[in-house]
Amino acid sequence: MASSSYSNPPCAACKFLRRKCMPDCIFAPYFPPDEPQKFINVHKIFGASNVSKLLNDMPPHQREDAVNSLAYEAEARMKDPVYGCVGAISVLQRQVIRLQKELDATNADIIRYANNDIPPPPPTAASQYGRRPAAGHGGSSGSSFNQNSGCYYPSQWNNNDPSGDDESGNM
Ligand SMILES: [Zn+2]
Repeated sequence: MASSSYSNPPCAACKFLRRKCMPDCIFAPYFPPDEPQKFINVHKIFGASNVSKLLNDMPPHQREDAVNSLAYEAEARMKDPVYGCVGAISVLQRQVIRLQKELDATNADIIRYANNDIPPPPPTAASQYGRRPAAGHGGSSGSSFNQNSGCYYPSQWNNNDPSGDDESGNM
């Protein structure tokens, strides 16, 4: 029997780093042993010592948010080594711009209809609304992002290639 009968299993970080998980382990609250991949991703992208320094330098109440952010960014970087989470952001920004244009056009149509300036369009024109990208399986490698990190991408992101135009790329 060891004198320090410390029965908790080591946190995911200490288990991965093969070291003893002390009661004051900086990683233990944020990297539980049942989520090994969370630490592996963060360690691979940012490095355990950098994460340790970062956590030590910030107030405890911000650490969980910081770790969740690191885990999100690390997993995004693993899935998309070039763009990381910027890929998701740019896809969403393009969507916002496209949808804003659609909304502006629709609002302009509504005003014109209200003023009886033009007749309603034939049904074929209306069917162009909501031209969503075809549900191609672009991101087939693992779309279950939220299991470890508690974060998630919008489902649209998994159907889009963040590096290219989603509507004209497949010629
Ligand atoms: Zn530990």
